[in-house]
Amino acid sequence: MSEQALCWLNGQLLPLEEASIPVNDHGLLYGDGVFEGIRIYHKRAFRLQRHLDRLALSARAIALDIPYSLAELTAAVEEIVAVFGCESGYIRLMVTRGPGPLGLNPAGCHRPNVIIIADQIMLVDSQSREQGARLIIAATRRLPFDGLDPRIKSLNYLNHILAKIEANHAGVDEAVLLNSQGRVTEGTADNLFIVRDGTLATPPCTEGALEGITRELILELATEAGIPVQIAPLAPYDLYTADECFLTGTGAEMIPVRDIDGRRLTACPGPVFKQLNRLFFECIESESAEARS
Ligand code: PMP
Repeated sequence: MSEQALCWLNGQLLPLEEASIPVNDHGLLYGDGVFEGIRIYHKRAFRLQRHLDRLALSARAIALDIPYSLAELTAAVEEIVAVFGCESGYIRLMVTRGPGPLGLNPAGCHRPNVIIIADQIMLVDSQSREQGARLIIAATRRLPFDGLDPRIKSLNYLNHILAKIEANHAGVDEAVLLNSQGRVTEGTADNLFIVRDGTLATPPCTEGALEGITRELILELATEAGIPVQIAPLAPYDLYTADECFLTGTGAEMIPVRDIDGRRLTACPGPVFKQLNRLFFECIESESAEARS
């Protein structure tokens, strides 16, 4: 047991500060690579197989061969989680294109680096988590679907970082990115939901959102609970006039939204958020208990 930040680097487990990769890795030079963020709850990686499946799809989409099988990656994550030893935490699993000659052609890169970090994460402070996050709609638009498919969870987040910088300058917690048609996609590292007249709505991923694993779980939980669900395009108008709004993600978990561009939402945290948040944490508890037994 260590409880210090750790890194599993190509099969070797090290303290995080001792882990290093060559500076000519195309992951660093060009953001060429893919990743996953995974939560640890009760000393277990939550929904690990879903994350590894998505990682494999992201890698295939960019023609990157991961040099480990699914079973080996599962074992690697389980090993680092066990040695990390914390009840809860966060895993960052990355596969980079690996070192290669300068110039963006990946053909000269032959050894992808597989990096797994176990540490803690805090996306918003506890006050924003309880009282609701403040959002702006960023001027930065989400890269078009036909430029970079939003289902690829790539190492290049500059588009989202530009939106986050806008949020920082505006003194708020998070920014919403619109697509080039001016419709809502997602937050900088989270999916977005609204509630109006008791119906839960989120944009389809084809609008430009990641197929979030937390989003998928919230949709399942809402359907099981009999909450009407709509996967439909949303405009800024729908955000401004919603009864409730919240963000979901592995890092974010579920964060209620207090206001968007200064428009205060009717309820924060609202009744649908509260119900789904309870169901979300019950699901985490029951999956963890199941895994233990
Ligand atoms: N959108 C983006 C752009 C993200 O980076 C994330 C976090 N990985 C999400 C949405 C939420 O996805 P998930 O629930 O799978 O963490």
